[in-house]
Amino acid sequence: MSAVPVIDLHTHSTASDGTDTPTELVIAAREASIDVLGITDHDTVAGWAEAEAAARDHGLALVRGIEISTTWHHGSIHLLGYLTDPHDVDLMGELAKARESRAKRLERMVALMADDGIPITYDEVLDQVAPGATPGRPHIADALIANGTIRHRDEAFREWLTNESPYYVKHYSPHPVRACELVRGAGGVPVLAHPFTRTRGETVTDALVEEMYAAGLAGLEAFHRDHGPSEVERALALARRLGLLVTGASDYHGVGKHNRLAEYTTAPEVFASIESQASAATPVVRR
Ligand code: AMP
Ligand code: FE
Ligand code: FE
Ligand code: ZN
Repeated sequence: MSAVPVIDLHTHSTASDGTDTPTELVIAAREASIDVLGITDHDTVAGWAEAEAAARDHGLALVRGIEISTTWHHGSIHLLGYLTDPHDVDLMGELAKARESRAKRLERMVALMADDGIPITYDEVLDQVAPGATPGRPHIADALIANGTIRHRDEAFREWLTNESPYYVKHYSPHPVRACELVRGAGGVPVLAHPFTRTRGETVTDALVEEMYAAGLAGLEAFHRDHGPSEVERALALARRLGLLVTGASDYHGVGKHNRLAEYTTAPEVFASIESQASAATPVVRR
């Protein structure tokens, strides 16, 4: 391990909308000199087992996590949940409900797009979703790449897939306060992902973060590509005021997004605090 361990606690695999399999993700993380990797696929733990085996093979520490989509007003807010018990009935039930709703919603979005003459079928989209993975809008983009309509996911998001698009359909997801309770109830540690991302319309208010804090929120992901200097400053000030941890991470999605592994990282003492707050149900995987 290097003098100061490199800790990247927010990445995606093919278990959701990343393009690396969990094994490829672990290998890429090792190549990027990461010592502690968090796998945080959207609304699922489906990548955990493969990632665990790969982490043991390749000798890096693995933090098994999730990124829960939540609904607040008209926006979607993402909550990272670290080291949750994968057998917790309440949390797993909620994630299963969200995944089912995501599949139906994607089918409706594709129907609206196809009706408008965009060359896409739902079968083509399903071809892009790994077995058992959480379906999302990026898989629509991937189908459009596969059939030669576009070159990169970015183009699909610019043209058709934003929350303001006429083709956008919502899916079920819990309130962010409820999501904090569910993560804590499952023995895990909730951290608000990229709180002040500007690309999703409405951003989080301080009042909502205070409510989430009362429900067990442990930290804010202040250092993230979607934050400019003013968003970082706002997150740091809020974290200081409430006594929240401050994390940084890449939100790597393979070739699906421009985010590079370890472009932002988390301090070792912050990671130690996250680990100490988790129940023993899902320990950090170490060799
Ligand atoms: P969904 O989970 O279906 O609501 O889709 C949201 C996901 O789309 C996010 O988790 C991002 O990973 C991805 N996304 C959003 N904007 C872009 C973009 N411009 N390029 C690639 N992926 C994006
Ligand atoms: Fe994503
Ligand atoms: Fe996110
Ligand atoms: Zn993410």
